[in-house]
Amino acid sequence: MPPPVFRFAPSPNGYLHLGHAYSALLNFDLARRAGGRFLLRIEDIDATRCRPEFEAAIYEDLAWLGISWETPVRRQSEHFSRYREAVEKLAGLGLIYPSFESRAEIARLVAQRETEASWPRDPDGAPLYPGAAKSLPPDRRRELIAQGAPYALRLDMQKALARTKELAWREDGAGPGGETGVVAARPEAWGDVILARKETPTSYHLSVVIDDALQRVTDVVRGRDLFWSTSVHLVLQQLLGIRQPVYRHHRLIEDASGHKLSKSTQATALRELRGQGATPAEIRSRVGLPAVPR
Ligand code: GLU
Repeated sequence: MPPPVFRFAPSPNGYLHLGHAYSALLNFDLARRAGGRFLLRIEDIDATRCRPEFEAAIYEDLAWLGISWETPVRRQSEHFSRYREAVEKLAGLGLIYPSFESRAEIARLVAQRETEASWPRDPDGAPLYPGAAKSLPPDRRRELIAQGAPYALRLDMQKALARTKELAWREDGAGPGGETGVVAARPEAWGDVILARKETPTSYHLSVVIDDALQRVTDVVRGRDLFWSTSVHLVLQQLLGIRQPVYRHHRLIEDASGHKLSKSTQATALRELRGQGATPAEIRSRVGLPAVPR
């Protein structure tokens, strides 16, 4: 049996904080304990928010924590053609359609509907896509695209689910409601998710699934906030004929007032703590990991 493969996949859109330290160290420790491999992947598809100085800081902070990773590091921005191929494959199956409403227009459509009844939200709390773009005639779609209108490419979830078999994953950690063991996916809770945009040929959901497969990741260990995203990932894995990894969603590190840490808060940024004289051992203890990796 080949050794298990773990990965830590941060986005360089801010400085790493204690929550990232926990996730990275946990992955690294699990890989070591299992005699497995540890990969670092830079998830930099969002050109407007990702910056080279944040990427440089990721390498610096992780090395300071005592983490080492295989090189070359995969950077998602260098693989757009791969993601495009996958979108084309799904389009070929008739599972993709473009939508043209802006975020503000979508918010207005939702507000309109909500005057009558409550409108469903996805597990992240965002309203499901309510637009009519799914039924736009092909000619009209082509026309809008030719005119240069911005668009998002969405997965037609109903059609996608008609093509997939039973969707469940092995959870070695736990979900927000304590879900563990074999978990049944709930992709319909997300509606028609965006898989690409006019300016960005991929999305988090699509590139994470493709990269984990290409890098032969066997164990996806990540924060509990991504637990229900796994439902969408399973759908894409089945449609694209990709093997499913095992998942372990871990607890989130909170600040003193019980809030999820944010990249914009200075107080828990690793470089800030390092500047104040914290040691890697102190960081381990602060996030509740054993001092010496077991
Ligand atoms: N890039 C994602 C983040 O920074 C993590 C992706 C994952 O672990 O699946 O939140």
